[in-house]
Amino acid sequence: MSNGEARVTAFDLTGRVAIITGGNQGIGLGIAQGLAGAGATVVIAGRRAEANAQAARQIEAAGGRAIAIEADVEQEASCRALCARTVERVGRLDILVNNAGIARRKQPQDLTRAEWQAVIDVNLTGAFSCAQAAYLEMMKVGGGKVINIGSMLSIFGVAYAVAYAASKGGIVQMTKAMASAWAKDNIQVNAILPGWIDTELTKSAREQVPGLHERILARTPAGRWGRPDDFAGIAVFLASAASDFVTGAAIPVDGGYSSQG
Ligand code: NDP
Repeated sequence: MSNGEARVTAFDLTGRVAIITGGNQGIGLGIAQGLAGAGATVVIAGRRAEANAQAARQIEAAGGRAIAIEADVEQEASCRALCARTVERVGRLDILVNNAGIARRKQPQDLTRAEWQAVIDVNLTGAFSCAQAAYLEMMKVGGGKVINIGSMLSIFGVAYAVAYAASKGGIVQMTKAMASAWAKDNIQVNAILPGWIDTELTKSAREQVPGLHERILARTPAGRWGRPDDFAGIAVFLASAASDFVTGAAIPVDGGYSSQG
């Protein structure tokens, strides 16, 4: 086998099945498109059935394999049903991308307990419940990959995002704990930490926070906002055999934002 062939094989996801929570738009869709492009069957999971179906159609139109399943990661039963229905419909589960996320922009003194709880429930507890449900299915196929989406706020704090920062800090520590527990089961668990990415989540911030757009450009060595398709490569790497000895890592994909002092 030539080196070229070996490289292709290491990143090939043909025959693998991947769930992407929040896969119907933004970073999740960028990841789903990347995984489908590498040969995986992708399961687009979100609360909005029509948005899921539309994303799945988009991936199929580009030559990939995709199905849509409605899921609300805030509900433990929905996380379990998502994994069970995936296996019913496409036979197995190899890869879980915990990408679904929400933010509530308020100072700590103004955030209600219910708002705090909602952010933690979706961003952190939702990822935990989906991983727990996926673990059972991955054990049946001899291993798997869990990819958790953190944030720059896994590293830094900002005044208006106390629950979000807590949830994203928790994502990194949860990733390390799961990686430690499941390495023996041939399940690798890693986190991606996106920088500032042009999506619906950041759209209102860009519109409402004066000077934010310029500050991000100035602070990001790459000199631009990230795009959803910037996550295709790292997702394929972390979902494939190429990363079999990588576990418990938290990898920034941020155009250098977190490296600049
Ligand atoms: P978007 O707001 O564009 O998309 C969020 C996705 O999450 C949607 O597909 C939404 O689908 C889904 N979602 C939200 N709540 C739930 C739920 N309860 N159950 C299932 N799905 C849910 O966000 P981004 O693409 O920008 O962000 C994706 C991830 O990346 C998030 O975890 C976010 O925190 C993180 N991130 C984003 C950054 C950025 O700059 N954009 C920076 C750092 C991290 P639906 O409404 O159909 O449920």
